[in-house]
Amino acid sequence: MKRLQNLLALAALAAATSAPAQNYPTRPVVMLVPYAAGGPTDTVARVVAQAMGKPLGQTILVENRPSAGGILAPEQVKNAKPDGYTILIHHVGMATTPALYRNLRFNPLEDFEYIGLINDVPMTIIARQSFPAKDFEEFLGYIKANKDKVTLANAGIGAASHLCGLLFMTAIQTDFLTVPYKGTAPAMNDLLGGQVDFMCDQTTNTTSQIKSGKVKAYAVTSKQRVPSLPDIPTLDELGLKGFEVGIWHGLYAPKGTPKPAIDRLVAALQEALKDATVKQRFADLGAEAYPLDRATPEALQKFLKSEIDKWGPIIKKAGQYAD
Ligand code: ASP
Repeated sequence: MKRLQNLLALAALAAATSAPAQNYPTRPVVMLVPYAAGGPTDTVARVVAQAMGKPLGQTILVENRPSAGGILAPEQVKNAKPDGYTILIHHVGMATTPALYRNLRFNPLEDFEYIGLINDVPMTIIARQSFPAKDFEEFLGYIKANKDKVTLANAGIGAASHLCGLLFMTAIQTDFLTVPYKGTAPAMNDLLGGQVDFMCDQTTNTTSQIKSGKVKAYAVTSKQRVPSLPDIPTLDELGLKGFEVGIWHGLYAPKGTPKPAIDRLVAALQEALKDATVKQRFADLGAEAYPLDRATPEALQKFLKSEIDKWGPIIKKAGQYAD
């Protein structure tokens, strides 16, 4: 009798602890975005969140936690309850910030569960509309001749726009005054207003401004031209041989998030990436969804590690740090 009671008690305990994870999700999931609303990461987040909500049977609420360099949201997700109701979208910054910040308050390789890779987004070199250069050659000549007064906007140390600017400055061996924002949405506002001169930003933020002629575009950073911006040459074509930066995005959850919840999120991500509307939206914005075998925890974890190994030495060589 005692044994039966013990068994019943154990069964009740197991049901109580596993039921929430098995039924997951029973309420909306929050996706934190490390940059300002209306910017490139936010754009990708909203497309993916909406599409993942359908298979999950719950809304994914996108919340922006902008900070220069995007280092606040990962810290908040690290410290969130690991119950599947708080997740993080982030880009290559997860791999570059360990080399850039001496006092980073999260460890990308230890503090998270991985959900999967989402997409790859090329970048564009753009300038304010009134910038006095009609093509890349003139642009290069002008910025080199005026390097003490030309300003380069970015989203802070660790942002994609920072990484691209850093690589660009190294490639052309010229330093500029950089102006950091909490995302390239506010940086774009100032570029449109003519307060800053140029920026390297993702096509997810620049395509509509380029197409409507509100900014000047000189180059794309992908190896091949971007199909939705066919007239813009690659930096490689323009003489910066081998210059290539693509910004990848991934989804994370706090360490210890139950596996059934992660499995549901992975399945939802895969459904989202199969969705024809998502693919079209990405293509219109110059981005490319990853194949489904990359939208897995293993693929993201492995790729993140390889990106940390790749960018660490390059960043150290370029020598630009934060505290
Ligand atoms: N992707 C960032 C944003 O959404 C900016 C950046 O990484 O440069 O604003």
